[in-house]
Formats: sequence, structure tokens, C-alpha cells
Amino acid sequence: MTEPEPPTNLPADRRQFALEVVEQLRRAGHEALWAGGCVRDLLLERTPTDYDVATSAHPEQVRKLFGPRRTLSVGAAFGVIIVLGRNAGAGQVEVATFRNDAQYSDGRRPDAITFSTASEDAARRDFTINGMFYDPISQKVIDYVGGSADLQRGLIRAIGDADARIAEDKLRMLRAVRFAARFGFAIESATEAALQRHADQLSIVSGERMTAEMHKTLVTPGRELAVRTWASTGLLKVLLPTVAADWSTTGERICSLLRALQPCVWTSALSALLLPGFEKQTEVERASLLDDLKGRLKFSNDELAQLKFALTAQAQLTHAQQLAWSQLQPLLIHPHRSVAIDVLRARVLCGELAEIQLETVDARLALQPEQLNPTPLVDGQLLQSLGLRPGPRFKELINQARAAQLDGQLLDQSAAITWLKTQGN
Ligand code: ATP
Ligand code: MG
Repeated sequence: MTEPEPPTNLPADRRQFALEVVEQLRRAGHEALWAGGCVRDLLLERTPTDYDVATSAHPEQVRKLFGPRRTLSVGAAFGVIIVLGRNAGAGQVEVATFRNDAQYSDGRRPDAITFSTASEDAARRDFTINGMFYDPISQKVIDYVGGSADLQRGLIRAIGDADARIAEDKLRMLRAVRFAARFGFAIESATEAALQRHADQLSIVSGERMTAEMHKTLVTPGRELAVRTWASTGLLKVLLPTVAADWSTTGERICSLLRALQPCVWTSALSALLLPGFEKQTEVERASLLDDLKGRLKFSNDELAQLKFALTAQAQLTHAQQLAWSQLQPLLIHPHRSVAIDVLRARVLCGELAEIQLETVDARLALQPEQLNPTPLVDGQLLQSLGLRPGPRFKELINQARAAQLDGQLLDQSAAITWLKTQGN
């Protein structure tokens, strides 16, 4: 049977749907424009991940126009309505009423909003490059904040007074670094100074949000620059205090590892970031680092397992060529092997480890499945058929037989049975 076709979610379909949403709002007499990240991406000639529409229509008018079945009222408090496409390919568009954000007293979210005009809506956005509108009908950019000039200069600049804008929402500090890393842009000096000044207040942002930002930042090719900026502004002290404390001794090694990493999942990049500190830590310090990632930063169990494996496996992978196959093989069939190998590859590429270690690993990984992970000669069933009862000794025999099989000391099952008979109970 063939797999069902995945729903086509073509960029052209999504763009077309986002255009239709604007057209329908305009026909009903409202102002409507594409807004924010999608405008920035179009000007950078990148395909937008999603299209946001900003409009003069109020949320209840948007719902009425597109009908209750095609709309979801997710961010009602912020005047945001999701309009669903007619099919999966068209995706969905967030339609937000032009608004002003009132005062921010919690350092994260506005206390209230009021509906307003396009120019005021631009002014409440975070960075100039994120504050533009685009009219998809006349195909004109509407730029109240100098975003297109900053796009050309390659600058991340807060809209308005940098200090005040960063003070009102501390998450913007991490967003500034992320966009700089994603586009290879510099952070404009007043904005960077504001980051320096407010970095320690990042701690009021929730662990989940910090982790989500670290994730999005570390998968970009600009990750090295981002981590340098986290360190130089003081954000790293809040994100990963143990890494910040060691930065003067480990920072350069971390940066060369991050530079050497190929495109990878975020846990690989984070492992590279943590490795230099981890190597120096005691067992107790390692355990408390992992506790912090889980407790404060809300890492999932799977993310923690990936990190833990990638970090601990390095000590053995450093000597891959010298290891007995029975020691190396379990690392290479481990479910999180690819994360550990990403880090190993970076270590070799940045010259801290001989190439032969990686070549050994790559050659083994290229083996046929039955060679890489041969069917065990000895299993529980065989032991029971020989009259052994399950227990600690049972597991030990299975492990010993497995190691001997991998190391070529037991070649077939009859040799294994002969060997077992010499082991006693
Ligand atoms: P991405 O491609 O990562 O989604 P984006 O620019 O679309 O980038 P979103 O987080 O989806 O970012 O936000 C959409 C828009 O909303 C931004 O472009 C910006 O104009 C505005 N925005 C988002 N978060 C904030 C914030 N914390 N403060 C001010 N404006 C914000
Ligand atoms: Mg977006």
C-alpha cells in the first residue's frame, strides 16, 4: 500500500489565500494589509513561513465576514482572529486588528490594548524590520518605521526608544539576538546598549519562552554570533548560568564548536555549547545542570535524554578507533546517536580531535544493519531452554555473550551454547 499523500501546503497556495483574505476585508470596506514578519521575509526574498494580516476591522467584524466555521478566536484579548483556508494547502492566516498596546506592568505583556490605526500598530511592534506592512493588491510596502532602510543596512533596531521598548517586554532581548543570528544582521548600538542594561531582567520571562527562543536561535547558521552576543550582553547569565560563569575559559572553544557544527537539530548545538563546561564538571554538578534544564527551563524528557547521551558519549567516542567493538557498537545503535555524532563531527572539524575517530564511526555506521547490529546469539529464550531461571545472572550472561559475539569470540549459536555450559549458574 502506498502512503497517503501529505497535504500540499505550497507557499504559492498560502500566499494566494493571504491575498484573498485581504481582498475580502477590502471589499467589506476595511483597511487590510500584510504585516510584520511576512513583509520582512518578502523583502529579503525569503519565503514567509506564515502571513499575518493587520486590519481596521474589529474582531467581531472579522468573524462575521469569514463566518464562525472558518474562524477561530484564539487571541481575543489582543484582537486576533485566525481565518482558516478552505483546504489544508491554504493554511491559515492570523488577522489582527490595528492596535496600541497600553502600559506593560509585568515586563512581558501589555496590561490592555486599544484598537487604533496602521501607523500606531507599526509603532507597537518590536524591531523596525518587523514593523512594515505590504499592500498585496497595489504591491506597495508601507513603512512607518524605517524598516526597509534597516533591512538594507542589515540592522536590528528597536522601534522608538530602545530602552523603553526593551524594558516593557524583556522577551524582545532574545528576539533581537535571534533575528540578528537568522539574517546575519548587526544589532544597532542603542538597542544593544538596552540589552546590556536590561539583561539580568530576562529572568522574569518564563522558562518555556527562554527555551523556545534558544531553540530557534541555535538552529540558525548565525548561532555562534548569537551565543557571543548572549555572553557579551549578560543574557547568557540568565539563560545558562554555568556556561556564563566559565565563559572566559571555555568561550572560545564553544564558539569554534558552534562554527564547525553542520546544520543540525537544536539539541546538537546545545550539546556543543554545554560540552566544554560538562567535561570539567563533577557528577553532582552535571546532575544539577540537568535538573536546572528540566525544572527551570522546562526541557522535555526526550531533549534531556538527547543531551545527556550526546555529552556523556563524547568521552568514549574520543577514542572510537581504540574501543572494542562491543564498547563502540552500543553507542552507534543508540536512539540518540545522531546528536552525539553531530558533536563528534564538529570536534573533528574544528581540529580538536583526530579525523580517524570520526572515520571509524562513519565506516561502522555504513555497515549493513545485520553487521552493525547482528541478531543476538544468546537471548532469554535460549537460556530458559537450557534450564536457567530469569534473574541477575541471566542478564549478565546475555550481556557477556553479546560482547563476546560482537568482539568475534562467539561465532555461532553452537559455540555460544558450549560457552554457556562452561559458565555454571
Ligand atoms: P518568525 O518568522 O520567527 O515567525 P515573525 O517576525 O513573524 O518571525 P512572530 O513572533 O511570528 O515573528 O511575530 C509576528 C510579528 O508580531 C512580528 O514581526 C512583530 O511585528 C510582532 N511581534 C511579535 N512579538 C513581538 C513582541 N514581543 N513585541 C513586539 N512585537 C512583536
Ligand atoms: Mg511569524
